[in-house]
Amino acid sequence: MQRPDWYPRLVNTFEIRLFGDPVLRQRAPEVTELDGDLARLVDTMIETMHAAPGIGLAAPQVGVQKRLYTYDIGEGPGVVINPEIVESSGEWVYDEGCLSVPGLSFEIVRPKLVTVRGMDLDGNDVVIEGDELMGRLIQHEIDHLDGVLLLDRLEKAARKEAMRELRRQVEAGTLGAMTDEDTGRRL
Ligand SMILES: [Zn+2]
Repeated sequence: MQRPDWYPRLVNTFEIRLFGDPVLRQRAPEVTELDGDLARLVDTMIETMHAAPGIGLAAPQVGVQKRLYTYDIGEGPGVVINPEIVESSGEWVYDEGCLSVPGLSFEIVRPKLVTVRGMDLDGNDVVIEGDELMGRLIQHEIDHLDGVLLLDRLEKAARKEAMRELRRQVEAGTLGAMTDEDTGRRL
């Protein structure tokens, strides 16, 4: 059954912080306690990511200063706490977008294959070998945990142009508008 537009959503979601919010520019500290609060945070982040819709979401993007991100590239949702890239190789160009920089995407070259190590909510070791899209997602989300945005990965001229466009959108009050083409590229 298709829900009509007015049907209330019964899930809790966070507001996604956008470009210009200082929380996106800070390095998030490690998670030290795995408790019920953290489990609820992860649940709500997954709901927020699905509702956006996006395929990856880092805690600072919802204003939370903790080193963790959620993901779902179509194979079910997951979380990586205190993620660290332990290996990377190759090169891959991808038209990368960001939920915090909506409406814009950029062709960015990064390693193609990365291995991330972290833990899940139960404290078990998690190791994910991410190729192409998953590899990109891992690198993009860990950048968020370090206060880095995809704009920082652009060449100087492209970065300048992107910043100009973003400032224009902030002034016009149109930042946050998305097109259908963005769907699936949002990290
Ligand atoms: Zn992002």
